[in-house]
Amino acid sequence: MANQKINFGKKKKKLNPKKIGITVVAALLVIFLGVKGVGATTSYIAEKKEEKILQEKRAEAERIAAEKKRKEEEEAKKRMVGVNHDAKQYSYDALKVSEKLKTYDYTNNGEKIVFLTFDDGSSTTVTPQILDTLKQNNVKATFFVTGQNIERGGKPAEALVKRAFDEGNAIANHSYSHDYKYLYPGRTLNLDNFLADFNKTDEILKRVISPYFSTRVLRCPGGHMSWKGMDTLDAYLNENNMASIDWNALNADAEGRKKNASQLAEHAKKTAEGKEMVVILMHDTYGKEETAKALPEIIKYFKDNGYEFKTLA
Ligand SMILES: [Zn+2]
Repeated sequence: MANQKINFGKKKKKLNPKKIGITVVAALLVIFLGVKGVGATTSYIAEKKEEKILQEKRAEAERIAAEKKRKEEEEAKKRMVGVNHDAKQYSYDALKVSEKLKTYDYTNNGEKIVFLTFDDGSSTTVTPQILDTLKQNNVKATFFVTGQNIERGGKPAEALVKRAFDEGNAIANHSYSHDYKYLYPGRTLNLDNFLADFNKTDEILKRVISPYFSTRVLRCPGGHMSWKGMDTLDAYLNENNMASIDWNALNADAEGRKKNASQLAEHAKKTAEGKEMVVILMHDTYGKEETAKALPEIIKYFKDNGYEFKTLA
């Protein structure tokens, strides 16, 4: 046995080309499947990643939308239409009043309401006294201001508009220029001129009161009833939920010969008599000192006769 080699291990396999072939094929298959497996894993991860990105994008979009909604709600709370937030209790739907005035219906289900209205302000001479009297009597009014007069009075006039608003009165638009020839050439409405003129005052009010202020109430210089071609304005107001307000009583401080305070008060009472809903026209512009003097008596009349004081907004 000396020449016999001791074989500790397995008998050395004879290399079989057939087997090599199968092994190679198997190995390749394993590698192939392995690669494929890795590929599948890789694409699974990519998918998950993409899904996560999408989810994040969705969450971000939702966050932006919620933020936008919150901001809009915040802006809406700041928005003030005609009166400040604390004075809403005194305000009355101007559209209803407008409708009633148009149809000459001055009833109000047995409840008496009066709207004190002052046109053509603010003035630095008369408006302060009017505001003082309103405050002393704890009643509110509606001021139909003109942009031109606010500008004429400068900062003090601006401060009076703001004061009137802050004290719970309604601020409404009475045009910028008050110029009949520009607003109603040939006594017929020019809507473009009219809207441009009213927008100018709206801009002033936004600057003076608040960028969140707007009013849907206006009074046509000279009165809606005085001009031709007003149907296009009515259509515009209708579309924009706005109200044009004339009047059904007056102290006649801009009519006929100049009256003293007691004559003005008498005229106010006479024209208001028998009406449950009264919209009384007065003026707080320059030269209307007698109106300021007559106001306590006029307020007393409406109080004594059981009227509630409201503002137009
Ligand atoms: Zn006027």
